[in-house]
Amino acid sequence: MWQSSMFDLAINGAELIVTCDEKNRVLSKSSIGITDGVIAEVSSAPLPAGKTFDAQGKLISPGLINTHTHLAMTLFRGWAEGVDLQGFLERVWAAEGAIMNPETAELGTTLGALEALLGGTTTALDMYLFPDAAHKGAVRAGLRHISGPIFFDFAGLDGLEWADRIKFARSWNERMKGIGGPEVPLYLMPHSTYTCSPEHLHEIASLAHELGASIHIHASENIKENDDVARRFGKTPTEILSETGILNQHTVYGHGVHLSNSDLESLGNNGIAHCPGSNLKLASGIADVTEYVSRGVKVGLGTDGCSSSNDLDMWSVMRLAGYLISQSRGPTKSNAEKIFRMATIEGAATLGMEKRVGSIEIGKRADLIAIDLNAPHLIPLHNVFAQLVYAAGRSDVSDVWVDGHNVIQNRKSTLIDFSALMLQVQDCITALTSK
Ligand SMILES: [Zn+2]
Repeated sequence: MWQSSMFDLAINGAELIVTCDEKNRVLSKSSIGITDGVIAEVSSAPLPAGKTFDAQGKLISPGLINTHTHLAMTLFRGWAEGVDLQGFLERVWAAEGAIMNPETAELGTTLGALEALLGGTTTALDMYLFPDAAHKGAVRAGLRHISGPIFFDFAGLDGLEWADRIKFARSWNERMKGIGGPEVPLYLMPHSTYTCSPEHLHEIASLAHELGASIHIHASENIKENDDVARRFGKTPTEILSETGILNQHTVYGHGVHLSNSDLESLGNNGIAHCPGSNLKLASGIADVTEYVSRGVKVGLGTDGCSSSNDLDMWSVMRLAGYLISQSRGPTKSNAEKIFRMATIEGAATLGMEKRVGSIEIGKRADLIAIDLNAPHLIPLHNVFAQLVYAAGRSDVSDVWVDGHNVIQNRKSTLIDFSALMLQVQDCITALTSK
């Protein structure tokens, strides 16, 4: 017999639990017990706990994992339309110059984190300026937020010269601890091979080795990037990353759309954040992720920032990823299953977090979402993965837990006052449009 308060929280009587475990089991009429933010029990019987959640009519799955984004760029949603990557960068960098500072980065990231959580994303790998301000904003909303020091050769808006960036990176772990939030791995984030010289990348590789950090970097997003880098250095971005030692560390590429066979060989079992929405909108190309996976590269899904893909909707990303694979490889029955795993456990593996999050298994952090199945577009339920990837959407997510905390309750944040946030965003945007 269980003690009456054996678990802190029990999610009881779920219609379905999509575990994303090794066997990809889907359990019906089951319950989850959570203690200290960790999944402590999965059972076919309801569990007694201090708090219970009635999951009747709900599907419970692991929270979605966004492996590449720039959350603060929610402030530039719709600001750079009708352009390719280079045109986009030009327009967005000018807007950032006009309004971005630690306060606005925190504001934009809070908005992004709230949007992400409401749509069922519980973890995001977020590259942006002012990472500690951004981290503060995301943690306030309750997101498992992985930010980290960003690197360019030049002093950016943050005014940091190279030596300051290295110093900042060395203090990052301590800074993050000061802010708190759910546990995340340490990442260093050089922006790209077109904004960081090979010498600087070499330095970052040594620092990452010394600190035991992972690396997140944009690479081979479009053909023009590859051409520009080849013109300057006579190499592909991946050749540079391999030669500078970056790829000796656990690395996650943002995009990785245009990679040669030899690039893929050098990439080994590092990760790629596949961002089909951003890639299609900026006409960057189509990443052949089926090929990548078959070569042992880990592939997760990402939205990219809101100024290139306009929202942080991992459901539309899943759907686009599925359509692209069908188009290029032919429709297969297991497609939706593979895509949903890319958004959960494979996304976690891409980030090096598969032991902590990404599936519903005893010992994992309780990052969970509830999907309300009582909707016309979700019945009948012939194939659960097809339903999740090709029919479900953000508005079906009713509740979200991160580390067992109910951060979204019945489609509302328990941590953020949205009306107040909306006013702050409005003020900030007035400053941008009046410049
Ligand atoms: Zn990006």
